[in-house]
Amino acid sequence: MDYIRLGSRIPVTMPQRITKELCDMLKKYHPIYLNTHFNHPMEITEESKAACERLADAGIVLGNQAVLLNGINNDKFVMRVLNHELLKCRVRPYYIFHAKHVQGTTHFNTSIEDGIEIMEYLRGYTSGMAIPTFIVNAPKGQGKTPIFPNYIISRGPGYVKFRTWEGNVVKYEDHETKDIHELL
Ligand SMILES: *Cc1c(COP(=O)(O)O)cnc(C)c1O
Repeated sequence: MDYIRLGSRIPVTMPQRITKELCDMLKKYHPIYLNTHFNHPMEITEESKAACERLADAGIVLGNQAVLLNGINNDKFVMRVLNHELLKCRVRPYYIFHAKHVQGTTHFNTSIEDGIEIMEYLRGYTSGMAIPTFIVNAPKGQGKTPIFPNYIISRGPGYVKFRTWEGNVVKYEDHETKDIHELL
């Protein structure tokens, strides 16, 4: 086994279960990575922060996978605060997921556009450390697909034209790119 990877919402829903004893047991099996699942800054309590700190003190590398939920966290300000607060708990934001369509949860569905807008707003307005990857699961198990705001405007032999997070358009000389056909 190369490394152990755990996924658990226990640091959010039952942080008291992350005892010193549990962490002492887990740390015998390094390297361990644990992705947890905070969706909103209000889920970060004194107890959940302490649980994350116990895990981090045991050498477990912590990540967070959030899911965009309509009316809960599909808001750029909420997501910026969430990711920032996670870093303060030693949890590195890993993924933001576009929610799958599951029966009975349609009221939580957001648009992919919401996710792109959130990603657009994170870059430049918070540390890159607080910027996870926005993922849409392609249907029928075709896999996670990262979706980004579009920064490239055009490109050709010797240049790439892109915009910055502030909207400045830059024509970047890129002499290593010789043949546009290789790019298209
Ligand atoms: C998301 C996922 C994984 C883990 O993917 P990472 O990108 O490595 O985090 C593994 N198996 C399945 C079926 C998944 O959906």
